[in-house]
Amino acid sequence: MNEEKKKMKITRIENGTAIDHITPGSALKVLELLDLKDEKKSSMTVAIRVDSNKMGKKDLLKIEDKFLTPTESAMIALISPEATINIIKSFEVTEKHQVELPEKLTGIFDCSNPNCITNQEREPVESKFKVSSKDPLSVRCLYCDNLMEEDQITHQLIWAK
Ligand SMILES: [Zn+2]
Repeated sequence: MNEEKKKMKITRIENGTAIDHITPGSALKVLELLDLKDEKKSSMTVAIRVDSNKMGKKDLLKIEDKFLTPTESAMIALISPEATINIIKSFEVTEKHQVELPEKLTGIFDCSNPNCITNQEREPVESKFKVSSKDPLSVRCLYCDNLMEEDQITHQLIWAK
């Protein structure tokens, strides 16, 4: 069976977003990060560890009537740097691009240093990080210089949000 026919086996959506080439096993984390409160009635497809020509295995998400915000795209890039975003309108893919990690990350997740100025209650300051390495992933807080690695970033994104 060719790749197109394999893809057809998964439910098509009329309008929305397909997030393809997600790091195997990470689709549920991605789903967790997305703001889906307006899409309660939307159909969704979650595929975990399906065959991929490019990656061997991959995860895939299709969400009807959902279009990603720049913050959501950046969050996906943090946990799944190979992911591709397909925007679907009237059953056709109208736009396709790989997620891209911005140089600076503002207000996406909290600094893991409890003493950081961005974690103070009195005058909250929006968190700001600079990406210091993409592979392996690490970011540095622009306020307290705290270096955070992938595990800590994922923890802050998913569990501390
Ligand atoms: Zn900090």
